Amino acid sequence: MKVLVLNCGSSSLKYQLFDMTGEEVMAKGLVERIGIEGGRIKHTKTGMDSVVSDSDFPNHKVAIKAVLDCLLHGEHGSLQSLEELRAVGHRVVHGGEKFAKSVVVTADVLRTIDECTPFAPLHNPANLLGIKSMMEILPKVPQIAVFDTAFHQTMPERSFIYGVPYHYYETYRVRRFGFHGTSHLYVAHRAAEMLGKPLENLKIVTCHLGNGSSIAAVDGGRSVDTTLGFGTVSGVLMGTRCGDVDPVAVLHLMQEEGLDSKAMSHVLHKDSGVLGISGISSDLRDVEDAAAGGNRRAKLALDILCYGVKKYIGAYAAAMGGLDAVVFTAGVGENSVLVREMVCEGLEFLGALFDKSKNAVRGKEAFICKPDSRVALLVVPTNEELVIARDTLSLVS
Ligand code: ADP
Repeated sequence: MKVLVLNCGSSSLKYQLFDMTGEEVMAKGLVERIGIEGGRIKHTKTGMDSVVSDSDFPNHKVAIKAVLDCLLHGEHGSLQSLEELRAVGHRVVHGGEKFAKSVVVTADVLRTIDECTPFAPLHNPANLLGIKSMMEILPKVPQIAVFDTAFHQTMPERSFIYGVPYHYYETYRVRRFGFHGTSHLYVAHRAAEMLGKPLENLKIVTCHLGNGSSIAAVDGGRSVDTTLGFGTVSGVLMGTRCGDVDPVAVLHLMQEEGLDSKAMSHVLHKDSGVLGISGISSDLRDVEDAAAGGNRRAKLALDILCYGVKKYIGAYAAAMGGLDAVVFTAGVGENSVLVREMVCEGLEFLGALFDKSKNAVRGKEAFICKPDSRVALLVVPTNEELVIARDTLSLVS
């Protein structure tokens, strides 16, 4: 039972081919610079060296055809025929309020994803292009849409309604949506498995810390709150995104600097965060190095990031009325020993006993707490593609 997972960005496309019999990755790859000169595809069949080929991909359809050619290739391929593909799962960033679960793509679904484009103007059009191209190339293969926002649709109103006049919610759907849902869902499930307890009985704070970051309160397997909101800048400090900022400060800056909404949006999305504070880089590795060398603003950026994460762990423990586990995932959460230490030190009052010696891990599942810690502290590498593949299979089975 073979399932292909596609994650289409505006100029790139990531893919993974799964054999769902044993949930094994058979091949994966990346197409870059779609629609731009100098395109490149990197394809890796599991167990073999990667092959890279340079070629222009004028649009997503051409890129997808190149992916399918790689999958069928005599030497580097994994399929004899495209008929072996049971279904294709697509990552879709925004499903608005319509989708609380993954769905089989129909004309109606395509229309609704398009209606959500104003909420995710960079992502949803690219996701749609990927789905439509696949439908044209493989009209008989079911296409499944898996939404980043779906997992957070269980949030109660008190978490997702903003304190602006209610009619703005009714008219424009201005509300907290939340993102990285597939990742929060995956790591919460894995944490429950690692703890050997049913997810339904657990209160977990999941910290997805990457270039983009969000924290979620997962109570009994359901998202009850999360730090990203209507857009993708709120909550904790990110690579280039600002995290929580008083909206009045934003209005003040627009006035003082003569910035229109587009220019201000650029500041909040691209010039802020770890990059904006440190003035060095959006990549936390560079900032950690600079901080170790004594750079004051690099230290400050790290401090603001970790303080923010710690603050939300406390807030969400209070919101859920208890805490059983804190999970770290994504690029920073899986790899930054320093960030995990700065976040977890000082949480003893919550019953979380951090173990510094166990924390020296990168990119693999681990407990980073003492054996008698009432609250478990865990590292769980995320696997959004596997969630997409599982949802895809379950919808066509
Ligand atoms: P995205 O949100 O783009 O998916 P990732 O989850 O891949 O991002 O996270 C990327 C970030 O992870 C990089 O910007 C880098 O700062 C951070 N990172 C990766 N490895 C390390 C490491 N060893 N130490 C600290 N930070 C790391």
